[in-house]
Amino acid sequence: MVHNFNPGPAVLPDTVREEVADAVRRLPNSNLGILEISHRGRVFEEILASAEARIRRLLAIPDDFAVMFCHGGATMQFSMVPLNLGQAASSKPEYLISGVWSQKAFAEASRLVGATQNGSGELVQFRELPKVLATAPGCPYLHYTSNNTIYGTQWTSAPTAEACSLAPLVCDASSDLFSASVDFSRHDAVYACAQKNFGCSGLTIAVVRSNLLDQVPKNLPILLSYQTYAKNQSLYNTPATFAIFVAERYLAWIENLGGLAEMHRRARERAQRVYACIDEFPVYLPYAEPASRSLMNATFRIEDSEREKKFLKEAESAGLFGLKGHKLLGGIRVSMYNGLSMGAIEDLTSFMKEFAIRWDS
Ligand SMILES: *Cc1c(COP(=O)(O)O)cnc(C)c1O
Repeated sequence: MVHNFNPGPAVLPDTVREEVADAVRRLPNSNLGILEISHRGRVFEEILASAEARIRRLLAIPDDFAVMFCHGGATMQFSMVPLNLGQAASSKPEYLISGVWSQKAFAEASRLVGATQNGSGELVQFRELPKVLATAPGCPYLHYTSNNTIYGTQWTSAPTAEACSLAPLVCDASSDLFSASVDFSRHDAVYACAQKNFGCSGLTIAVVRSNLLDQVPKNLPILLSYQTYAKNQSLYNTPATFAIFVAERYLAWIENLGGLAEMHRRARERAQRVYACIDEFPVYLPYAEPASRSLMNATFRIEDSEREKKFLKEAESAGLFGLKGHKLLGGIRVSMYNGLSMGAIEDLTSFMKEFAIRWDS
């Protein structure tokens, strides 16, 4: 038995993988495979419409938001957000700095339109979430990263600042969208790449409040303008047809299981078991502060680096793959997105217990 803890692209649910494999040969209701049909034909149009309907139902997205199927990964949103939403206002966009991805988003916004830092967790090496500061008057948006995939911290609700209102809120939800509900009364734009919690690489969705689209500058490169996606139902050029199909099937799987309440229940159960195991054995040194811990990525180290290498090597021999931490942080990272089975968590925690007991004796 092999278990895949890769941080992204990540494991798919077994039934979704099977459906996708079959659809490469031949789609149901068609005599062709998913890789070989037109994005303008009836079959694909139905897939796209179904994917959008599922996204809207699962996230309870209000009607005044556009749902767009974009290219270029979450990283292209690091450019699109400031170019589209950060230029019309009298002051600069602000960024909450909670890890590597928010630093990258901030660096790109700074380069393109100028941006300022709001709170930052850099002084505590991103072990905990930063404190939110009041945004400046005229600030076009405050950007934050809901789950910090590399350090293993997560906002459990939208950031708030004490006794003041914040600028419109933009969220990079690339590593936790569809693992819990999102409060769209508190957000103005949310984006996520699909390859962690709801599909494969090639697709990034952006959900943006329609009134913000009115301020999009007219001179943007055509595929970097939200207007292009919104006005053409994401069909201005060929969208990522295969990735959209995979997401549509993945979201169907989520809906059939009971939606985001069930995804969140599973995420809590997976994470509880892994953190309980980390906390039980002193050989495992947790990275994130307990109050900021992520349900999606649990990060820890083993003090002796030889032991740590041994852990990773033995884990692979036991069929547990993808546990090596990000190269910037090192250590061990357990990524546990929607597609990860409880059986994977059981086998991992048994292995961790057995390894820790051997270490002690
Ligand atoms: C993975 C990830 C990204 C980068 O996504 P790409 O699709 O590779 O551009 C950005 N932000 C967060 C929070 C991520 O987890």
